[in-house]
Amino acid sequence: MTCELLFRDDAYLKSCAARVVALSERGIELDRTVFYPRGGGQPGDTGGLRRADGVEVRIVDARQGEGAATVVHVPEPGAPALAVGDLVTAELDWERRYAHMRIHTALHVLSCVVAAPVTGGNIAADKGRLDFDIEMSRLDAERIERDLNALLERDGVTETVWITDAELDAQPELVKTMSVQPPRGAGRVRLLKIPGIDLQPCGGTHVRHLAEIGRIKVLRLRSEGKRNKRVEIGFA
Ligand SMILES: [Zn+2]
Repeated sequence: MTCELLFRDDAYLKSCAARVVALSERGIELDRTVFYPRGGGQPGDTGGLRRADGVEVRIVDARQGEGAATVVHVPEPGAPALAVGDLVTAELDWERRYAHMRIHTALHVLSCVVAAPVTGGNIAADKGRLDFDIEMSRLDAERIERDLNALLERDGVTETVWITDAELDAQPELVKTMSVQPPRGAGRVRLLKIPGIDLQPCGGTHVRHLAEIGRIKVLRLRSEGKRNKRVEIGFA
């Protein structure tokens, strides 16, 4: 069941009114949502769905459903049942999501500080990491931390840009993350643009101003294999 993905246009929406359109063993589908479904290394959102009578269903995860624009809201075991047609207020655990937005956006900047192909990544509320195809000897924690914070201090403003599949095909250098190919088939691809710093396909949620991220520290560097040198960062 197609769902209007409100976080795509406004990552700062903390809640929305919605209608339950489908129920399954996997969870609850709504006609619109602020919940980001797990993907691209970013965890699914948690929060609650509250009925008009005050009954709240705790949501412990959000996953993509059958189609691209579908979100399954996973209820806590034993949560009160909802029915198709119920009107609810969908509300995020905002502090957790906002932390994901800050770490996620910091990783975009990190991918420009380390000049190597990205082979993987992951985001949590207190830290995040990217894996690079690079020699371990070329990674310097102090240098990465200094360059990363220097870019964050410039306080650029992030923008969402859409291009066609054909335009992306003509610029393959935009796809930095080898393990995560941008979603295709809808005819257009969403990009995150940080003017002067980064431009790459991404369907995740980002902060508007780089200054919102605050200072970042490199938590550790570690080899995870020949083509995976891991850089882990967190809030300083
Ligand atoms: Zn992103």
